[in-house]
Amino acid sequence: MSLTVVGSVAFDAIETPFGKTDKIIGGAATYISLASSYFTKDVNLVAVVGGDFPKSDIQLLQDHSVNTEGLQIKEDEKSFFWSGKYHYDLNSRDTLVTELNVLEHFDPIIPDSYQGCEFLMLGNLSPQVQKLTIERLKERPKLIVMDTMNFWMDIALEPLKETIAMVDVLCINDEEARQLSGEHSLAKAAKVISAMGPKYVIIKKGEHGALLVSGNELFYAPALPLEDVYDPTGAGDTFAGGFIGYLAQTKDISFDNMKRALIYGSAMASFCVQKFGTEQLVGLEHSEIQERAQKFIDLVQVEIELVS
Ligand code: AMP
Repeated sequence: MSLTVVGSVAFDAIETPFGKTDKIIGGAATYISLASSYFTKDVNLVAVVGGDFPKSDIQLLQDHSVNTEGLQIKEDEKSFFWSGKYHYDLNSRDTLVTELNVLEHFDPIIPDSYQGCEFLMLGNLSPQVQKLTIERLKERPKLIVMDTMNFWMDIALEPLKETIAMVDVLCINDEEARQLSGEHSLAKAAKVISAMGPKYVIIKKGEHGALLVSGNELFYAPALPLEDVYDPTGAGDTFAGGFIGYLAQTKDISFDNMKRALIYGSAMASFCVQKFGTEQLVGLEHSEIQERAQKFIDLVQVEIELVS
């Protein structure tokens, strides 16, 4: 089933306690597209880059069968640039630079061939552009999943709330959930956010896994305790890509299937953090993904008889 992905395609410069990169390919839509490409071969990208963006990086997406017909190239402008520095625990980071550049006036164009998509992933981007993307699809997709970040809560809270009201699943991290809801308890935060519109709320907790909440139903997927984690950049987007990619592949948007999608999303994110940038998401084998998903299942599966 076809999946449309909108979001940033960017240059990132990352610093973690374990190393530093110059400008490398990044962006929410990059991570989402790569991760979801392992589940469906029908991934359609909507994004914008400047003339400085290497053709080889666009080729990389195409090599993962991502359709780039909706990727605009503004030859005379610069690509979006983000730079971040992680603290020692890797769960928190400081944004050092956000240069919107080409994203500042991004007008998302939806190619005709993308119309009729069943799944829409709104990756991190201005909420106005996310909303425009929904409005420009002639038919509402079967499932709309949205990601966002504190940056947009700080500068565009009202448009953000308008967009949140239009989606089915909101996927954000714990700190953002607290900021958006004004609640410290994540269980309460999920309720407050759900009241804004989305039937499902996913709260990502970095190395502490992810929580899926819908009404009174709850599911928790752990993160895999990895021996070596180098760079968490894009882990949340990769998680979202695995999540929606799995749903698109299995064509089932029930709560039970979302639980499985949470496991696959977590499995994909666990690859992402093992190297810098997108490096570990390139050229993965299907068997590696299955083995990784199995590790998650083994991590939490236990037979237990309740004692009387
Ligand atoms: P994550 O680590 O999952 O939060 O995602 C990091 C990615 O988000 C990086 O590759 C950045 O290029 C991208 N990013 C950071 N800030 C923004 C923003 N304000 N809008 C869109 N994308 C962003």
